[in-house]
Amino acid sequence: MSSYSSITKAFKSDDVKKKVTVEEAEKAVETLIAWIGDDPKREGLLETPKRVIKSFNEHFAGYKENPSEILSKTFKEIQGYDDIVVLKKIDFESHCEHHMLPIIGNASIGYLPNKSIVGISKLARIVNTFAKRLQTQEIMTSQIINAIHDNLNPIGVGVVIEADHHCMKTRGVHKKNSLMLTSQFKGSFLTDEKLRNRFLDFIKN
Ligand SMILES: [Zn+2]
Repeated sequence: MSSYSSITKAFKSDDVKKKVTVEEAEKAVETLIAWIGDDPKREGLLETPKRVIKSFNEHFAGYKENPSEILSKTFKEIQGYDDIVVLKKIDFESHCEHHMLPIIGNASIGYLPNKSIVGISKLARIVNTFAKRLQTQEIMTSQIINAIHDNLNPIGVGVVIEADHHCMKTRGVHKKNSLMLTSQFKGSFLTDEKLRNRFLDFIKN
């Protein structure tokens, strides 16, 4: 099973989420505060567990979203347009699945339509849907391209992501200036070097 379909399946089942109540999640944050050596009962920290769980709801909202639903509305009337469509540098904030620290970056998506196109904001929403989950950049790249490939059935599609990983910057190897790049191509973007290079030229800074 591909990671895209397994995550789509996991999203369909609310089982995991139902087992943990908000109160239990807040209690877990309180435990962590005590574990690092602070007093969760002091005034400044009293409301912190509530705030952390509230921000988690925002950071991890992507588990509640269905990529196929987002990409379900397509437009057939494209008046003979037969070139690539590119949305570049779509900002996102995600969290790495290894340290739960921020991954801040942008994704560029290009596709060669096969008789139908999708509203351009839907491409941005697809990036958000996968970013707002625990991620690795490699998996996120793959999930985005598979969602577009499986739902739009384009002639070709490419995804390029560049991102800062805070777990590399603020801990561990402490590399403040590293930037990670990933890319994946399908269909004509894979087989036609000229087309792929045009996409890559489009998204250059
Ligand atoms: Zn990490």
